[in-house]
Amino acid sequence: MSDSNLHLNTLAVHAGGESDPQTGAVVAPIHLATTFRHGPSGERVGGYEYQREGNPTNDRLCAAIAALEGGAGAITFASGMAAISNLLESLPAGTRIAIPDDCYTGLRALAAEFLPQRAINVVTINMADTHAVEAACADGIDLIWAETPSNPRMQVCDIAALAKIAHAHDALLACDNTFASPVLQQPLALGADIVMHSTTKYFGGHSDVLGGALVFARADGLHARVAHRVHITGATLAPFSAWLTLRGCRSLPARMAMHCSNARAVANFLSTHSAIERVNYPGLASHPGHEVAKRQMRDFGGMLSIELSGGKPAALDMAGRLRLFTNATSLGGCESLVEHRASVEGANPVSPGNLLRLSIGLEHVDDLIADLEAALA
Ligand code: PLP
Repeated sequence: MSDSNLHLNTLAVHAGGESDPQTGAVVAPIHLATTFRHGPSGERVGGYEYQREGNPTNDRLCAAIAALEGGAGAITFASGMAAISNLLESLPAGTRIAIPDDCYTGLRALAAEFLPQRAINVVTINMADTHAVEAACADGIDLIWAETPSNPRMQVCDIAALAKIAHAHDALLACDNTFASPVLQQPLALGADIVMHSTTKYFGGHSDVLGGALVFARADGLHARVAHRVHITGATLAPFSAWLTLRGCRSLPARMAMHCSNARAVANFLSTHSAIERVNYPGLASHPGHEVAKRQMRDFGGMLSIELSGGKPAALDMAGRLRLFTNATSLGGCESLVEHRASVEGANPVSPGNLLRLSIGLEHVDDLIADLEAALA
């Protein structure tokens, strides 16, 4: 079901969820088969041949994600990074890409270590500064990569403005929508050409399944090239992972509502605390991207970062003293997490030493605030 007249909450429950035609089972079956029987002339019997190329459980998930993002088609991958690298490495040699100066560390590593080997050139710019993006495009950019809100500084860029600039220069706009999820923000409706997700995060929602997805505004040549690339290079999402992620879709809007309301209360609390120098949360009126976020997001999400007045020692001390927040990387699960980003960014961290990233979970918000208060005492 992908009827565009349906509300997003309804699509989340039903898209890719038709009952099993053979048994009537209301919940989608998991097809684990790696290979599918041929007909007498070697033809495909049920439309499938080999799991790396496609399988029914994965197709259900692709239908669900495409419906939620309002795209013409989706492709899923074994991880978010597989989605990013399969897209960018499908671009012709000589392509010039602009990426944000604040973005997921894996994209930065891909841009520094791997893309140049394929003659794909990368420039880094402040995506919140549309003049800087204009200037980069005037110099010749083929694809703009946006990530909003960004990881970990929660910067917001104006998707509609970036799409206008990109298209005026015959460039594409791709947007990492992992932090917002389609529940809060739909970049294709704002003019983006491609949306990317680490489905490991909010889509899966329970910190137990790795995956990634690309959603395309048009089922065009690029969509076909990326689909062919994943079939050949084999970064295919496993059926059980596809099934868990599809199950995550059903409760995504309900979970996002609670992530958002908890994060708003936590951000408000932390923004009044004397030990905190800065709270990066686009829902706060003081956030430089607040007005843009209000325009393009339905709510402000479950992620925030804080910068402590006492520097790196205070940040490490706070992370170590929290009891309900687990000190671990990743985000988007039911449980709240805290992470000292600079510590996980390798030899040359770009995150400030005093920054902690918080993934606000689904616990009672009073318990979360009490935990934060005690850790800061
Ligand atoms: N994009 C963002 C914003 C992320 O936070 C992450 C991972 O944390 C990724 C992409 C990469 O996703 P994965 O870990 O599923 O490969």
